[in-house]
Amino acid sequence: MPRTPMMEQYFAFKEQYPGHILFFRLGDFYEMFYDDAKLVSRELELTLTGKDCGEEERAPMCGVPYHAAENYLARLVSRGYKVAVCEQMEDPALAKGLVKRDIVRIVTPGTVAEGQLLTEKENNYLASVCVGETGAALCFADVSTGDLSATLAEGDFSSRIINEIGIYTPKELLINSPLSADRQLQEYLSLRPECLITEVPDLFDEEKAAALVAKYVSPPPEDGSPLLTRAIGALLAYLEETQRTELRFGKKLELYRSDQYLSIDANTRRSLEITETMRGREKRGSLIWVLDRTKTSAGARLLRKWLEFPLVDCNRIASRQRLVGAFYDDFMLREEIGGLLKGVLDLERLMTKVNYGTSSAKDLRGIANTLALLPKIRLLLTSSQNDELFALGEKIDTLEDVCEMIDLAIVDDPPFLLREGGIIRAGYSEEVDRLNAILTGGEDFKSELEAKERAATGIKNLKIGYNRVFGYYIEVSKSNLSEVPDTYIRKQTLVNGERFITKELKELESTILGAKEKVCSLEYDLFQKLRQSVSDQAPRIQKSADALSLVDVYLSLADVASRYGYVCPEVDYGDEISVKEGRHPVVERFVKDGGFVPNDTLLDAGHNRLMIITGPNMAGKSTYMRQVALIALMAQIGSFVPAKEARIGLLDKIFTRVGASDDLASGQSTFMLEMNEVAFILKNATRRSLILYDEIGRGTSTFDGMSIARAVAEYTLSPKIGAKTLFATHYHELTALEEQNEGAVNYNIAAKKKGDDVIFLRKIVRGKADDSYGIEVAGLAGVPRPVIRRAKEVLAALIAEAEAASPRQKVEKPQVSLDDFREKDVLEKIRNTDPDLLTPMEALELLHKLKKTLD
Ligand code: ADP
Repeated sequence: MPRTPMMEQYFAFKEQYPGHILFFRLGDFYEMFYDDAKLVSRELELTLTGKDCGEEERAPMCGVPYHAAENYLARLVSRGYKVAVCEQMEDPALAKGLVKRDIVRIVTPGTVAEGQLLTEKENNYLASVCVGETGAALCFADVSTGDLSATLAEGDFSSRIINEIGIYTPKELLINSPLSADRQLQEYLSLRPECLITEVPDLFDEEKAAALVAKYVSPPPEDGSPLLTRAIGALLAYLEETQRTELRFGKKLELYRSDQYLSIDANTRRSLEITETMRGREKRGSLIWVLDRTKTSAGARLLRKWLEFPLVDCNRIASRQRLVGAFYDDFMLREEIGGLLKGVLDLERLMTKVNYGTSSAKDLRGIANTLALLPKIRLLLTSSQNDELFALGEKIDTLEDVCEMIDLAIVDDPPFLLREGGIIRAGYSEEVDRLNAILTGGEDFKSELEAKERAATGIKNLKIGYNRVFGYYIEVSKSNLSEVPDTYIRKQTLVNGERFITKELKELESTILGAKEKVCSLEYDLFQKLRQSVSDQAPRIQKSADALSLVDVYLSLADVASRYGYVCPEVDYGDEISVKEGRHPVVERFVKDGGFVPNDTLLDAGHNRLMIITGPNMAGKSTYMRQVALIALMAQIGSFVPAKEARIGLLDKIFTRVGASDDLASGQSTFMLEMNEVAFILKNATRRSLILYDEIGRGTSTFDGMSIARAVAEYTLSPKIGAKTLFATHYHELTALEEQNEGAVNYNIAAKKKGDDVIFLRKIVRGKADDSYGIEVAGLAGVPRPVIRRAKEVLAALIAEAEAASPRQKVEKPQVSLDDFREKDVLEKIRNTDPDLLTPMEALELLHKLKKTLD
C-alpha cells in the first residue's frame, strides 16, 4: 500500500535531518512517528499510539500538545537528543490539499539560546575541535551570551584538548576526525556522557569556513592558521544551521594561548575541587561555593571564568586586587551597590533574545528596569574618593535614552503574549490611543444602546450580551417575547427566552472588533520596531553589562574577604611562596567554631623546593597540600587569600597527583592511571610549577612503589624540573632525601599518642613523623577492638622479627631493600666525584657523609 502524502512529506524532512527527533506539527500537537515515537514515549513516559499512514501496519505514534512543547523539548535536549521542529506554514483550514510545512527550529544541547534549558549561573557551550597533523584548534561559543573564543593546541595536543574541554565543559562537541583516532581523548570523553559528540567533517571545509569567519568575525583572527579558521568556521556553520538566521555575537572573538593563563590540567582541576566537588560533582564544598557571593547571573559566570583562567601577569592581578581592596575598605558602598545589583537581570541573555527577535514585552520591560539602576550604580562609584572605583564607574554607560525609549512605549506589567494587545503605554501612539478609546467607548455605547432599546420596546429586562459564536446579541425573556419588534432578527432560542440581533447592533460589533484587531496588530508592529531599536543599541548595552559583571565580581570577592578574614597577597615574579597562617578556604568553612588550625608554608627555588610530608592518615596532609595550591590559585585570580600574610611568586602550572581517583569506568587499573598522571606531570612541569603528590606508588608492591616514589621525587628536584613540590607519603624512607638533596625538607603533621588513641594536632612541623599511627587511626575509624588488638600483636612480632634477622640476608631478589638504595646512592656519589678536584678537607667530609648514609 502506498504511504499517504503527508507521510511522504514527513519522511522527506526526516531524511534531511538524520540523527534528529522530528517534532511534526499536526493541528494542536507535535507528533512523532516510528522509532522517534518509540524513543520519545520511553524517555518522556508518553502513551504510544498508532496512526494509519496508508501502510499495512499502523505507524507507532506519540505526541505532545504544542503549547507545552518547550518543556518536552527541554527534557529531550537535556538528555542529549537533538530535535528538529517542523511547523505548519499555513492555516490547515485554508490550505488546499497538503498543508505546507517547514523546519523552523533545531534544538540541540549546545546551541540553546534561551529558556528553560539554560543554567542561570553557568555558560552553555558548543565546542568544535579541528585536529590536524601537528596540532589542533578549538573553538567555543555560548549563543545565549554571545561568547566566542578559540585557541590553538600544539605539541602534546591531546592533553591540551582534554584540558580545554575540562574547562568549558561543553554540552556538545563537533569534531572533524573520528574519536577512535585519539585513544586518550576518547577515554576522557567516555567519562563525560553529558557531552554530545558529532563527527561532521563536511563542516570543517576550509573554504566554507573561511567565508563564515569573514562574515561573522571582526576583526578576523590575525595568525590565520587554517586549523583555527576551520574550527571557528565549523562551529559557525553549525550555529547558522540550528538558529536558522543570521548570527549575532555580543562580544569579540577571544583568541588565547595556554601560556596566557595559569594552566591547570583537567585532573588537577577536579582534585582541587575548584568548581565542583570530586565525589558528588556538586557546587557545595567547592572553591567557587566559598567565593561566589555574586548577585547577578552574569557576575557568577564571570567569576567562574576567572577561576578557570587565573592570570600570570602581575600587573593585571594587582589591578584586580586594588579594586577588591577598594570595595573591601568600604562596607557602606558594598551594601548599597549590592542592594542595587540584586535588581539587575541577566542583560546578556535578555539581549540575545532581543537580537534574535524572540524577546517578549516582559523581557524589554526587564531590560528597562535593569537599565534604570545604572545611573545610581554609576553615581555611587564615581562619587568615591578612590580612583579605581571612579574609573570603574566611568565604564558604565547609563543608557538613560534606551531606558526611556522602552519605558515610554511599554506598560509597567505587560502580558506575555505579543499579539493580543495591552503592551503599549497610553500616550505613545495616537492611533493606538484612538483605537483603545473605541474599545473602551464600545462598552459605554453598549449600555447606551441597551437603555435605548429598553425604552423603545418597553421591555425592562432586555439585555445586550456578547459571545464568541454570535458576537453581540439582544436577549429577551420568554414573558416579553410578544413585545419584540419586527426589526429584531432571531438567532437562538433558550430555555427562558430568545436572542436577537439588529442591524445597529452588528454595526457596533464590527467597529469594536475591527478596532481590537487593528490595535493588536499595530501594537505588535510598534513592539517589533522598538525591539529593533533596542537591538541597535546592543554594543552599548553589552558594555554596561560587562561593567556590572565586573562590579559584581569585585564586590563578591571583597565581601568574602571581609567575611572570612582574608588578606591581600603580595604577588610577584619571584621564586618564593611564603604563607603565614594559611588556611584551606573550603575545609575551614566546615570545621566548627573556628577550629581550623592555620599553618605556614615556605617554598622556593633553593633549599625549600620539595616538602616531604609524613604523618598519620587523617592528620591533614591532603588538606594542607591543597590549601597551598588553592591560596596560590586565589592569588592569581586577584582574590584575597585565607592567611595572615602571603607572598606568591607567580606559578605557570599546578599539578596534582592524588590517590584514590579510581576511574573504574575507564577500565584502566588504578596503578596505570596513577603512572599516566605522573608521566604527564614529569613531562610538563617547569621550575615555575607547583606539584602536589599525594602518595605515589601505592598500587604496586612496596618496594616497587617506594622505588618509583623516590625516583620521581629526585627527578622533580633535579634541574630538569625543579618545581615547587609538596609530597605526602607513607614511605618514611623518603625522608632520607633531606640529607642527600639540598632542596628537600622534611615536615610532618603532628599527632600524639594518648593511650590507645591518637590526637591530631593539625600543625605542620619540621622533621619526619615518628610513626604512622595506622593502627590507632583504624581504631578511631571504628575497626572492632579485637582486630586492633590483633594488629598490634602482629606489628610487634614483625618488628621483633625484623630486628632479629639481618635484613640484607633475608631479603631475596628481585626485591630490593633500603640498604640497596643506600649503597646505590653511595656508589653513585663516588662515581660522580672527581677526587682530583677535592681538597683533603672536602675528601674527608665526603667520606663522613658516605659513611653516614650507609649507617
Ligand atoms: P590526610 O590527608 O592526612 O589523611 P586530610 O587532609 O584528609 O588528612 O584531613 C582529614 C580531616 O582533618 C579533614 O577532613 C578535616 O576535617 C580535618 N583537618 C585537616 N586539616 C585541618 C586543620 N588544619 N584544622 C582543622 N581540621 C583539619
